[in-house]
Amino acid sequence: MFGQLTSGLESAWNKLKGEEVLTKENIVEPMRDIRRALLEADVSLPVVRRFVQAVSDQAVGVGLIRGVKPDQQLVKIVHDELVKLMGGEVSELVYAKNPPTVILLAGLQGVGKTTVCAKLASYLKKQGKKCMLVAGDVYRPAAIDQLEILGKQVGVPVYTAGTDVKPSQIAKQGLEEAKKKNIDVVIVDTAGRLQIDKAMMDELKDVKRVLNPTEVLLVVDAMTGQEAAALVTTFNVEIGITGAILTKLDGDSRGGAALSVKEVSGKPIKLVGRGERMEDLEPFYPDRMAGRILGMGDVLSFVEKAQEIMKQEDAEDLQKKIMSAKFDFNDFLKQTRAVARMGSMSRVIGMIPGMGKVTPAQIRDAEKNVKMMESMIEVMTPEEREKPELLAESPVRRKRVAQDSGKSEQQVSQLVAQLFQMRVRMKNLMGVMEGGSMPTLSN
Ligand code: GDP
Repeated sequence: MFGQLTSGLESAWNKLKGEEVLTKENIVEPMRDIRRALLEADVSLPVVRRFVQAVSDQAVGVGLIRGVKPDQQLVKIVHDELVKLMGGEVSELVYAKNPPTVILLAGLQGVGKTTVCAKLASYLKKQGKKCMLVAGDVYRPAAIDQLEILGKQVGVPVYTAGTDVKPSQIAKQGLEEAKKKNIDVVIVDTAGRLQIDKAMMDELKDVKRVLNPTEVLLVVDAMTGQEAAALVTTFNVEIGITGAILTKLDGDSRGGAALSVKEVSGKPIKLVGRGERMEDLEPFYPDRMAGRILGMGDVLSFVEKAQEIMKQEDAEDLQKKIMSAKFDFNDFLKQTRAVARMGSMSRVIGMIPGMGKVTPAQIRDAEKNVKMMESMIEVMTPEEREKPELLAESPVRRKRVAQDSGKSEQQVSQLVAQLFQMRVRMKNLMGVMEGGSMPTLSN
């Protein structure tokens, strides 16, 4: 699957072999390869442009991960962008609050719609859902027979009313029948045409009005490339759909449909058909699909692990620093002086998570506060600065600091309490809950 796309992308990574870092200059050629590979896979041009831009922006901005080579890093960036392009998360089928859930299937002739009806029923049946099929393709008598045969094959009842009844009427009767039989999911097949025409759209609108379906899924053939994405857009504008089912992904489709549908139409691919057998239908997983396209599962998991380890190391480093610094009054003073040098508290406050916008009045207050703290810390003995516990335990020491700095005893107590609170907060911030509890001031 997508062999040509995979090898086209491969030449992009190969151009980076031997490089030390990703730069604006050395990604030019690989980006050209990526662009070419996507266009050859029949991805629509605007999608290719946006994709290439997003990958280049990230490639030059990305930090070096220890042990990961630039070509591996680019693989990961392309992978993540491919996942995003295909909608990110898997898009699950939605079920009605009050059964039966109605799934209306639409699509042009030959795309695999009738097959999908039976495959979908079989897939849902395996999940414990009681299903029923409704044969609404009245223009192709063989379609009704085909659905009955497939229904029997997967053990799901098929409602038919021949070819003389209007599709909207069949849909209505089928739904009533399903309600009587306590069916969970009704899957309605509709007529396809060789190409979009007004009669087809009008008929679909009629059927949709009668059924009020939870899902309206357009079945498209992966072999038609970006044309599939255009069809999804048209059907969505004309009748309003909830998603697409992409068939024949097992054939030699180039990937354009899988990559373009979501981006072009805004509608997700919910399921994919990967063969003619009844069990060849599965949810569309953007990350698995991206993995298959790149064919580099080992590189991807390696880069992910390296990223993970680096994150962990950074966190541990920071944690050690905070834990070993113990954060005494000297640190406190150093910080307040650094703040004073900066001339404004605003930047510092802005850096604290959870503190968004600060008003000028708040900044002035904070600056006044810093000065007051400074005057109290300056009159402490070196020992008191290093061991804030001394002040916490001794009212006599606090009284002396108050007198020497011209502040009240209460203000000194507040400063001491604030330091311990800060220690606790820092530890909590690192997710270290043990220790660092705030001592109560003794009188
Ligand atoms: P409809 O006209 O849209 O109802 O199309 P059909 O359901 O009759 O399918 C047309 C042909 O495509 C049949 O020969 C199916 O076996 C085949 N087909 C359907 N889905 C798939 C698929 O996922 N993979 C492959 N290889 N063939 C498929």
